[in-house]
Amino acid sequence: MSSKDWLEKDFYAVLGVAKSASSDEIKKAYRKLARELHPDRNPGNREAEERFKAVSEAYGVLSDEKQRKEYDEMRQLFGSGAFRRGSRAGGGSSFDMSDIFGDMAAGNATGDRRFGGAGFSDLFTSIFSGGRGGPSARRGPARGRDVEAEVTLDFRDAVNGATLPLTLRSPGVCDTCHGSGAKPGTQPRTCPVCHGAGVVSSNQGSFSFAEPCRECQGVGTIVDEKCPECHGTGGVTKNRTITVRIPAGVADGQKIRLAGKGEAGDRGGPPGDLYVLVKVKDDALFGRYGDDLTLTVPITFPEAVNGVDLRVPTLNGAVTVRVPAGTPSGRVLRVRGKGVPRRTGTPGDLLVTVDVVVPKDLPESAREALKTYAASAPAAPREHIDRQVGHE
Ligand SMILES: [Zn+2]
Ligand SMILES: [Zn+2]
Repeated sequence: MSSKDWLEKDFYAVLGVAKSASSDEIKKAYRKLARELHPDRNPGNREAEERFKAVSEAYGVLSDEKQRKEYDEMRQLFGSGAFRRGSRAGGGSSFDMSDIFGDMAAGNATGDRRFGGAGFSDLFTSIFSGGRGGPSARRGPARGRDVEAEVTLDFRDAVNGATLPLTLRSPGVCDTCHGSGAKPGTQPRTCPVCHGAGVVSSNQGSFSFAEPCRECQGVGTIVDEKCPECHGTGGVTKNRTITVRIPAGVADGQKIRLAGKGEAGDRGGPPGDLYVLVKVKDDALFGRYGDDLTLTVPITFPEAVNGVDLRVPTLNGAVTVRVPAGTPSGRVLRVRGKGVPRRTGTPGDLLVTVDVVVPKDLPESAREALKTYAASAPAAPREHIDRQVGHE
């Protein structure tokens, strides 16, 4: 590792701890991340692997008192735009995570490199979703993570709103081994190579180089007999089913935030939020344009000429739509208040498009009548077209 590397990397941000964090806090943050990002739990996930390495590297430096001091001094000496204290000057209690993440996203171009294109801000919002500004982002019991889920609704359920069960998969601690990963009755032992640190350091010139311990894959302990339930990872995916209320009028692609329905917080911290991405199926009859519903109704030429009262369906009962005499094909007639309900104010409208159909086959009597009609009907108003043709 070079000094330049140190300057470019914000190990505190990587671990999601304040610069003033105690060694205990650093250890705890590292353990949690190492467990989540562990290759055994994320097979084939390159991003998790990269993050796992980054987290191990950060811990390697920050867990070593001497290296941490050197690191702090170097960054203080050469300055780092990527790091800033919270607005209230002083100790760690005023530290605001959103400051780090905001800076990372905006300023530190080099910071992204390690993550193969995944933006710093994305990365950290997904890990530390509690860090998004506001007083809740202050240190204290950790807020639970935000959770994302997806639901597909029938067209009419989206318009009218729906209450439905939603099964969420989230990581939890294995009940069989209580997170140790060891078979019940056995204990994980401290890794003999890294002595529990999870990283090994070697000196290269004047700098020390840290990498995740190969023996224990960065966890710090070795499980000889794996827990049969979680296969040694200490974690399992748990399903929980909650009932969610989707408000009336949601549109395809909309994201709904359900406050407090995310993962539970650590040690009494507030829960995260649940974001539900809504997909809406097409309807056989109605289309949708914002808060308006659309419907196309075929009419005959005589109906267009003479006018007609149409009975058309809405989402709550049929209504009569008057097509005035002389209505051209494609005209849109508005039925007020029969569209999508709005949370505030009046609902949208139903837009009925009349479509004059031209029959392909006519019975002989109708064909004769049409000839008679044509003989006395006014010509099509296309003199301007004919005139242009005459000039060419
Ligand atoms: Zn287990
Ligand atoms: Zn080890």
